[in-house]
Amino acid sequence: MPFDRYNRDIDYLRISLTDACNLRCVYCMPEHMTFRPRHELLSDDELRRLITLFGTLGFRKIRFTGGEPTLRPGLVDLVRHASATPGIAKVGLTTNGVLLDRLAQPLRDAGLQSVNVSIDSLDEGRFRQLTRWGNLRDVRAGLDAARAAGLRIKLNAVVCRGLTLDEDVTELARLTLGSDWQVRFIEQMPFGNNQSFQEKGMVTEDELLAVLNRVFGPLELVDQGKLDGEARLYRLPGGKGAVGFISPVSKPFCADCNRLRLTADGVLRLCLLRDSEVDLRPLLRGGADDEALSVAIRQAVFDKPWGHGLEQHLIPAARGMSEIGG
Ligand code: SAM
Repeated sequence: MPFDRYNRDIDYLRISLTDACNLRCVYCMPEHMTFRPRHELLSDDELRRLITLFGTLGFRKIRFTGGEPTLRPGLVDLVRHASATPGIAKVGLTTNGVLLDRLAQPLRDAGLQSVNVSIDSLDEGRFRQLTRWGNLRDVRAGLDAARAAGLRIKLNAVVCRGLTLDEDVTELARLTLGSDWQVRFIEQMPFGNNQSFQEKGMVTEDELLAVLNRVFGPLELVDQGKLDGEARLYRLPGGKGAVGFISPVSKPFCADCNRLRLTADGVLRLCLLRDSEVDLRPLLRGGADDEALSVAIRQAVFDKPWGHGLEQHLIPAARGMSEIGG
């Protein structure tokens, strides 16, 4: 089992498959972005090798993300490989859902179990405003396909002060009345490339909870507030599903962090909100054997920082969210 120096069991790897995206969410990246050239990204073979190695080292869960992971041509095969990897019990995907319509069934057939779809509003106009390029109908079609394929679905929404309306929050939460989905609201995190926008735009869990309590009546805390992954869950009165809050800024959950992130260019990011990184690509491309790679990964796990430094105004500067993989 991979334990870090604080005795946390680090068994969850989030793999970014590309830094490119087919949307330009205002809180995530500027409209005009330059993405990494293909040769800087890990190849499918390099990724398969690392996935096998992480399974051997005791990692239990893999989530593919990005950028937008459905833009990666080899996604289905990588999911198939991860699902068949000894030790890996759970394989998930985080996506904007735009291309899920045609990919949901092949992904399910390849062993994908669950999908987190980012959707910030159910209003077409505001969805377009928040994503700059998005068409809500594509995401709805993707969700229908995911449901038909039997994938477990969670929705993620980033709330953006001045752009998101209370109505967006309540309509997303309302989806949990009739379905067993989780709808999770994520606090905006600041990164060097967009820091002041993200700090000004952040809406806290407490503010959102007040809105939902007012509209639906008191929400019921699920499981005494024990986190489900990163989310604190509540149920609307009479609700089948759950409303979750992922609140890394107002209620940090670093003590429960069990994850590492692998960027598309092969860097292990030890904390989402700190620039502590270990570059695996020179090892991979320099002929390192599995033992040398394992040593580097175990050391990286051990060196994982205790937590982020947002309260001390330490804002990560090296990469934005789309370059890390949320
Ligand atoms: N393209 C995929 C998607 O849309 O889900 C995967 C990558 S995206 C970077 C992962 C998640 O990060 C999305 O839910 C997105 O809304 C969220 N995100 C992006 N920038 C963020 C920020 N500054 N703070 C909080 N969440 C952010």
